[in-house]
Amino acid sequence: MDLIGGINSVITATKSLREASKAIEDAQFSLMVSDLNLQLVDLQSEVARLVEENEQLKRELNKKKERKITVLGDFCYVNNSDNIPVGKAYCTSCYENYETLNSFTTLGSLTVCTKCKSTVNVMDAKRIMTPDLFETVKADHSDIIRYL
Ligand SMILES: [Zn+2]
Repeated sequence: MDLIGGINSVITATKSLREASKAIEDAQFSLMVSDLNLQLVDLQSEVARLVEENEQLKRELNKKKERKITVLGDFCYVNNSDNIPVGKAYCTSCYENYETLNSFTTLGSLTVCTKCKSTVNVMDAKRIMTPDLFETVKADHSDIIRYL
């Protein structure tokens, strides 16, 4: 039985109980049944919210699983559909520790990650990766390339 279906069954049973309580004509019993019904409606709402949140988290997780990353030392890049890194550079440390893509900003003479504040080379941080550039980098620095 799914959770929402189960709660709906309990609410239906509570409504039947409330109808039966009218015949009993016990005010306190009717009040308890009404209170129970209200609590079940609140619970149903909370379960619906949690189910939606769970679905959203599943979608985000699948999106992350689908994303392929190439690491070049301190920098990582998102791969395109041909599995080649392209676009702006992100912080490798943040990706490995938090699985988040954080870019860099310039603070005075330093270029730092916007999240973990690790310092990197300004020219490398500003480099926009292209398939042609990656071919060059791959030829010169194959020792620092990792595929995640
Ligand atoms: Zn970082």
